[in-house]
Amino acid sequence: MSSVFHRVPKRSMPTAVRGEGMYIIDKDGNRYLDSYAGGASVSNLGHSHLEIIKAIQDQVGQMAFFHGGMFTSEPLEELASILISDAPSGLTRAFFSNSGSEAVETALMMCRQYFMETGQPNRTKVIGRRNSYHGAGLTGLGVGYSVARRAPFEDILPEVFHISPCYEYRGRYEGETSEQYGLRVANELEQAILGLGAGTVMAFIAETVVGTTSGPTPPVPGYFRRIREICDKYGVFLIMDEVLCGLGRTGSLHACEQEGVAPDFLTLAKGIAGGYQPLAATLIHQKVYDAIVGGSGSFKGGYTYSGHATACAAAVAAQKFIRAPGFIEGVKKTGAHLGSLLQKRFGQHSSVGDIRGRGLMMTLELVEDRETKAPFSPSRNLGAKIYEEALSRGLITYALTGTVDGRVGDHVIICPPLIASDEDVETIVAVLGDTIDAVLDA
Ligand code: PLP
Repeated sequence: MSSVFHRVPKRSMPTAVRGEGMYIIDKDGNRYLDSYAGGASVSNLGHSHLEIIKAIQDQVGQMAFFHGGMFTSEPLEELASILISDAPSGLTRAFFSNSGSEAVETALMMCRQYFMETGQPNRTKVIGRRNSYHGAGLTGLGVGYSVARRAPFEDILPEVFHISPCYEYRGRYEGETSEQYGLRVANELEQAILGLGAGTVMAFIAETVVGTTSGPTPPVPGYFRRIREICDKYGVFLIMDEVLCGLGRTGSLHACEQEGVAPDFLTLAKGIAGGYQPLAATLIHQKVYDAIVGGSGSFKGGYTYSGHATACAAAVAAQKFIRAPGFIEGVKKTGAHLGSLLQKRFGQHSSVGDIRGRGLMMTLELVEDRETKAPFSPSRNLGAKIYEEALSRGLITYALTGTVDGRVGDHVIICPPLIASDEDVETIVAVLGDTIDAVLDA
């Protein structure tokens, strides 16, 4: 009997013993094709990347860790300069932590400290969006809106105002263009700021491309430009959360590049060290750095393992690989191939209402009725069934219930490692098609 308090205690799970490129191998020798990059959009460079493994071994052999308040280290400095060299405009400093939740928490704490340091103590409020995920801690759950995960903690979460997501499939009115829809939902931010009191809001946080809650959901054109305008008008910081969608996954280094905007804070994690070490980063605007360092002198957050040398060494190797000539271009091409395969296999499928995403970050939204977009009843438990059926066919996938509002709706996410080949995505789509049909026909 296991002594672990597993995340899904009632699921009987194989024991993973080895990783090999796009595959995970269990202790009975079964091979599983990974269509969700380590089960969480993390293992972007596959499961046996020799250069990253060597970078970790070398660093551990030399100096594994020392607290960042007393020493800096070469991998820490090198990683920060790589991330800043091609960061969105204005972001000039990187602060490191261990998880996406901590990267988000760091951004929010820095926002608050900035306003304290600059004599604006009334700015205490944060605005987020429904159907969003920003982490599993109380802060992340509070600014995010993952209904099922929030439920037991609702009474102790920080109070946060949530506006509509940019979720075109369900939110756009008939007769409205994508751009008009984007403007309408972006303008909810202005209404929220005015409603709360313009001088009381410190930040707006959004995933550039939504990851898990409603499946990969890109914004419509112009949405984030309008959001940026509103934030600028009211002196509200824009935090773009690219923990999942950043660092190449959407076919550009940063997803916000495709929106034509630069945030004040950019959060990165998951693929940053390819899953070989836990690591996250918050990229910070120069004005925040200046206010804090020129004011009280130091940021009052941070963690024991912030800037862990071995994790940074892994990330340096991973980030050099991602930035190698042609790599991100390759993601874009394989992503386009994946998109067209999904269209071919599911475009006319009676139970697939929407196929959306960007790059190697795609989702299928399942519906009972394509005309009315009515979701399946949650009692069918489709997410878990699809996951189990796919696994029995040798495919690791991620299928969730709660797409529409956190309670109803089902979607399947396809976020394979960024090293996926055309043949890999062809196999993924073929097995997924058979899996979904088998589950729906059962
Ligand atoms: N932000 C986004 C957009 C995420 O997708 C996640 C995790 O899925 C997080 C934050 C939290 O990251 P972590 O689980 O590493 O704390």
